[in-house]
Amino acid sequence: MRLILLGPPASGKGTQSERLCQRLGLLHLSTGDILRDAIRQGTVLGRTAQPYMDAGQYVPDPLINGVIEERFSGPHCPFRFLIDGYPRTLPQAESFDTILKHAGMQLDAVLLLNVNDQEVIERICGRRICGKCGHSHHLRYLPPKKSGICDVCGGNLEQRKDDSESVIRKRLETFRASTIPVINYYRQHHLFQEVSGVGNVDSVTDALLKVLDKESRS
Ligand code: AMP
Repeated sequence: MRLILLGPPASGKGTQSERLCQRLGLLHLSTGDILRDAIRQGTVLGRTAQPYMDAGQYVPDPLINGVIEERFSGPHCPFRFLIDGYPRTLPQAESFDTILKHAGMQLDAVLLLNVNDQEVIERICGRRICGKCGHSHHLRYLPPKKSGICDVCGGNLEQRKDDSESVIRKRLETFRASTIPVINYYRQHHLFQEVSGVGNVDSVTDALLKVLDKESRS
């Protein structure tokens, strides 16, 4: 299976992607994680992306398209994957079509996790990310077993710089302006499926799996 998972910030893309990849045996690619990793490592990509991310803006299309093109060319090209947070703009969707065509691949589905703005803002305030492995926790919905410590690797949990309320409002605006056209683009190609991202983590995973099961039977 080859899937895209889209959604507004804090819609649970990261958490649900990890779960779907585990259940379906897919490689998880997340452009947000790739960029945060680059920032942690202090690479040129990280240094270029950071000011955009801190301001709640998308990084420029050529930069992110270059990252994906590199991942999909050569011997390490993923075969069965779920990509989360990409494409987020129409030029990215068009570039991804070309990248997949060169790799001889087709998408199976594009999923949208739908969450309203109020819920997004509430979630952002409680979100804590592991500074070491990037795993996402939530103080209310997915609390760590030990306060401030990542369940997965024992690293320290931190609040993302772009998780403040003013930045999140900007990120929601950016999502509406740039990513809604992407949703319409995939809707035209009959690849698009929408699932409510509100509810407990298990029930959202079940809803996503149900949609994918239906898709694979049709
Ligand atoms: P995420 O973790 O997916 O919410 O992404 C965090 C931030 O990384 C976004 O607010 C953007 O600044 C940047 N980012 C991640 N993916 C993309 C993308 N496909 N296009 C542009 N910027 C991105």
